[in-house]
Amino acid sequence: ENIIEIKGIKKCFDAFVAVEDFNLEVKKGEFVTFLGPSGCGKTTMLRMIAGFELPTEGHILLNGKDISSLPPNKRPINTVFQRYALFPHLNVFENIAFGLKMKIVEVTYKNKNGDTIIRKEKLSRTVIREKVKRALEIVDLEGFEKRDISTLSGGQQQRIAIARAIVNEPEILLLDEPLGALDLKMRKEMQLELKSMHEKLGITFIYVTHDQEEALTMSDKVVVMSDGMIQQVGTPEAIYNEPNNVFVADFIGESNIFDGKMYGNKMVHFCGAEFTCMDDLPVGSDVDVVVRPEDVEMTTMEKGQIKGTVRSVIFKGMHYEIAVQSGDNEILIKSTKSAVIGELIGLNIEPDGIHVIHSQTNINVYDGTLTAIDKVSF
Ligand code: ADP
Ligand code: MG
Repeated sequence: ENIIEIKGIKKCFDAFVAVEDFNLEVKKGEFVTFLGPSGCGKTTMLRMIAGFELPTEGHILLNGKDISSLPPNKRPINTVFQRYALFPHLNVFENIAFGLKMKIVEVTYKNKNGDTIIRKEKLSRTVIREKVKRALEIVDLEGFEKRDISTLSGGQQQRIAIARAIVNEPEILLLDEPLGALDLKMRKEMQLELKSMHEKLGITFIYVTHDQEEALTMSDKVVVMSDGMIQQVGTPEAIYNEPNNVFVADFIGESNIFDGKMYGNKMVHFCGAEFTCMDDLPVGSDVDVVVRPEDVEMTTMEKGQIKGTVRSVIFKGMHYEIAVQSGDNEILIKSTKSAVIGELIGLNIEPDGIHVIHSQTNINVYDGTLTAIDKVSF
């Protein structure tokens, strides 16, 4: 069941196109992440969902209804920003309760004659106290009600900001680089906690980050963006293992990207070796060949499909990062085995580790038109 449908969204700031041709469906309860480099339009798209910006073209549907004309406070959507935007002069309880105290609810009564009367009322203090207590439990800060904001660490302040955003039970929580201000250790911890909060709450999260590792760790679905456009939508595994184009392959994880050429009967040629490709591509067409460093295996020169000279070896703890020169190409390898600089070695690539991305010559790979992927077999 889709909670959000984004249809043909375009957003211009004067002549500048910040978001274009944006189509996406988000399922109820999903954890979706917009991932892309700084300036690619993530925040702009999020602000349109929240209602802080209006689209130039297109529609956003919430539970099947167009919400374009609804102001932000009428949408069942809250946002957590990178800068927590807490009120420094209010304590934790007052920060979280702030929105609840403003909230007007309709309460139904029966009078002496048995007539039904509907009255508009503020939430009672008991209800507010109970809701704040629950929100603090969810962010793992029980009993922090009376603390001053200034006495809290960055991580704790961000949790308070999250508590404030969930206290009135929105259907969707938008999070715009919420961990950006935290140090690495705290960020890793909060990633896992946010994921468990998402499970506890059962509401839909739309998360924005430029950090690919964060996106892969947390999301059910990743939306990779560049230059205002979606490059690929998929599970973290699909985005990593089956990149749609060179941009995605390069942005997510590390990749070797080689120039290749199709020739003969389903053959692709790169790094001085040739491989059989399962799909027919026009003879002579230029292709980009994407190979993950962990999918390259070192062997003796005689046994290698590709031959080269070891240029550098760096110890990384879990593995070695080894650069091998083969003709004009430098091939990056991640291996548990070390190698000797200057040695002539052979390399083999697992069939699953080779992606041939078909490009027509001179088409800019960033424009999202290059999407054909073909697995290669030997
Ligand atoms: P991201 O969040 O991915 O870093 P943004 O959505 O903030 O990117 O910005 C996308 C592009 O739109 C940037 O080039 C930015 O300068 C531009 N932009 C964003 N908001 C405005 C605005 N209010 N007026 C003009 N340009 C804007
Ligand atoms: Mg942003």
